[in-house]
Amino acid sequence: MALIKLDHVTKYYRERLALSDVSLSFEPSEWVYVTGPSGAGKSTLLRLLSLSERPSRGRVEAESGLRKAIGMLGQEFRLLNDRNVYENIALACRISGVWDKEEIKERVTPLLDEMGLRGHEDLFPGQLSAGEKQRVALARALVRHPRILIADEPTGNLDPTGAAQIFSLMRQYRDRETLVVVATHAEDWTVRHPGRVIRLEQGVVRSDQARAATDGPAAASATSAPALAPGATPDVPPPLPPTADPGGGI
Ligand code: ADP
Repeated sequence: MALIKLDHVTKYYRERLALSDVSLSFEPSEWVYVTGPSGAGKSTLLRLLSLSERPSRGRVEAESGLRKAIGMLGQEFRLLNDRNVYENIALACRISGVWDKEEIKERVTPLLDEMGLRGHEDLFPGQLSAGEKQRVALARALVRHPRILIADEPTGNLDPTGAAQIFSLMRQYRDRETLVVVATHAEDWTVRHPGRVIRLEQGVVRSDQARAATDGPAAASATSAPALAPGATPDVPPPLPPTADPGGGI
């Protein structure tokens, strides 16, 4: 069964048509791009997938419990400037109902390592680079153990190095049964990290193309992280082994 499905969905904002009769189905572990020019309806589609808005017509069918298992990443980092890195991530745990200090620590600590943020946990957002801020924002999205990660132009405010790191880190979560949906108008990512590409134009799905599910050698080399200074924490950990049971998880 699909993790989430749009069935003949139309979305209006007042009289403005944002999406028109869109039917799409998404499975766990899929890596999906939503592309198209500005105003095509990409953000609207993502808002419907995040269950934060309802369609004007048609249905959005999500697996039960999915609402609590959605991670969001945007172009703006939206960190709390008066909280340190650890607290920014821990807060997302509390928002999703995890209050136990030890459990929060067990969730946050490995993410600090994975995101290359170990040693940064006491810093405040104002002390971080844009790439580091976005890695905190990604950790904040992932600490809820999302089954869908929804990213709207996640590299819009990053330099090429920071952007490559964010894509590599998100890519690993696809390998953990998480559906990843990325809206981007930077189409070179669809070549560097191949996946399903849904192209929207004027609120209509123009094409929906599945590509190879795994990165090829060219993609791997294109996305490898740049060298770090000696002694620095690695920003991008090595890729995870493939999951043993690609059909499992739901
Ligand atoms: P994209 O993300 O591809 O740039 P959007 O989903 O943001 O496209 O917008 C699709 C259309 O819906 C555009 O015409 C936009 O102006 C309109 N739209 C989106 N959000 C709103 C809103 N909150 N209020 C009014 N119109 C909106």
